Amino acid sequence: METLKELKQYLSSPRDLAIVVHRNPDGDAIGSALGLFHVLRQMGHTIRLLAPSEYPPVLNWMPGVEAFIIYDLKDQEAKQALERSELVFALDFNALDRIDKMGEYLHHAGKKMVMIDHHLDPEPFADLQVSDPTASSTCEVLYVMLEQMGLESYINREVADCLYTGILTDTGSFSFSLSSRLFRIAGELLDRGVNNNRLQDLLFNQLPEKHLRILGYCLYKRLEVLPEYHTAIITLSKKDYEYFKIQRGDTEGIVNYLLRIEGVKLAAFIHEQPTITKLSLRSKGDISVKEMAQKYFKGGGHKNAAGGQSFIGLEATVKKFKAILPKYKDILTGREVVSSQEK
Ligand code: 5GP
Ligand code: MN
Repeated sequence: METLKELKQYLSSPRDLAIVVHRNPDGDAIGSALGLFHVLRQMGHTIRLLAPSEYPPVLNWMPGVEAFIIYDLKDQEAKQALERSELVFALDFNALDRIDKMGEYLHHAGKKMVMIDHHLDPEPFADLQVSDPTASSTCEVLYVMLEQMGLESYINREVADCLYTGILTDTGSFSFSLSSRLFRIAGELLDRGVNNNRLQDLLFNQLPEKHLRILGYCLYKRLEVLPEYHTAIITLSKKDYEYFKIQRGDTEGIVNYLLRIEGVKLAAFIHEQPTITKLSLRSKGDISVKEMAQKYFKGGGHKNAAGGQSFIGLEATVKKFKAILPKYKDILTGREVVSSQEK
């Protein structure tokens, strides 16, 4: 299967399908997976939804999200679900190592695979690769794909809510990765029943009090600005995690605040987890945090939003990060006006 036409033909009779999203799935991963799920279900297919790890509670309201089988919680069930599926849709990731053990299984299983994604440099693991790194989100890619396949009649209010969610979360509420195409699509989703205020409120104005207190602590006590490198860093230790009882999702978005500081072009949120130290990196303009994450922190992502990890503890990781900055001094201190922020 190499074309959308062949995929459409394949989907013209009922199939056993799986949809897999990346570890720590975000609004775009869950939104695109559920959007596709509701389209395929209307067409009469059997679909299993899979994620390597849990989705953030802020997405609990999404229609169908409870159907996700989480590999971390139910590995046997997840394996069986993959075994029973003839074709697997891979959503919002570009390399099999983003889905951990399920990736290892799929690497050997020889299942038909369709990738729908917007990350740069996709690895060629899928039979059909629907990838557009110029798109804001996987939800945008999926919308265009459904149009190209003549399946737009299945985009009902439920599907539209899912796709709009991914667009909102991956563009920071229409702040970056924008295009006229995206606004056209957003308009069409509104026509199909999306209530923008309702979704913005569900996604962005339901934070637990704790979340804002952690943000306050990070900004007041754990922020370091390095003006000579136009860089800002926030670090959180295991102790901080224990003190605030920080859980998955509680620190989501904190890194983005750093880019709001005048002059800051590179932002790092470095946090210590039980076994690894995670880095969340953001940048403006031509500074590629994707390259930085790949080269030094076994990670990847997008040019202006990337992540990685290290295994040497928090202090040593921060030291390593600072030691890298001189290599980027020219680009960090360049006077070039920042043109865009991509995600
Ligand atoms: P975040 O900082 O929000 O966790 O991640 C930002 C982006 O970086 C994500 O969209 C994801 O594509 C990428 N990313 C984060 N962590 C990793 C990682 O460990 N490996 C790779 N390859 N990409 C990552
Ligand atoms: Mn995405």
